[in-house]
Amino acid sequence: YQCTLAIIKPNAVRKEDEIVELLEKQGFCVLQRRCVRLTSEQASEFYTEHYGKMFFPALVTFMSSGPIVAYILAKNNAIEDWRNSMGPTNSMNARIAAPESLRAKYGIDEMRNGFHGSDGPLTAEREIRFFFPDFISH
Ligand code: ATP
Ligand code: MG
Repeated sequence: YQCTLAIIKPNAVRKEDEIVELLEKQGFCVLQRRCVRLTSEQASEFYTEHYGKMFFPALVTFMSSGPIVAYILAKNNAIEDWRNSMGPTNSMNARIAAPESLRAKYGIDEMRNGFHGSDGPLTAEREIRFFFPDFISH
């Protein structure tokens, strides 16, 4: 199996139980879970690839506005499958293009889209280490 880093963002945390039930039904296995509130410094570091973009300051404010829940999810093809489960970045597009996706169900708009998922194996490794520095895979 493969591991990916998933986050429930502040706007969807209150739906955690329902969301975890759904993702387990889709075959994802929760290996680690951590509920944290990021400082704006930590949120900036996590989203460092987006530094300089127009939405960066708002994204950092949003991601540090309340608790989030980070998970290590395991499954065959977990990285790609989790991104497919989340659906399109913009929740409003998701409701049209992928009405069954998590962002369609639990997202609000382009920023408050409820979820994060690593976008490749190297990102997954970095992001897992960011939240779970002691985690050892294999
Ligand atoms: P994620 O990386 O969270 O899985 P993504 O890869 O679909 O989402 P990115 O382009 O990497 O999207 O953007 C990271 C996050 O920044 C998005 O999930 C969203 O919360 C926010 N974001 C992206 N684009 C915009 C935008 N145009 N306006 C506001 N917020 C945005
Ligand atoms: Mg991304």
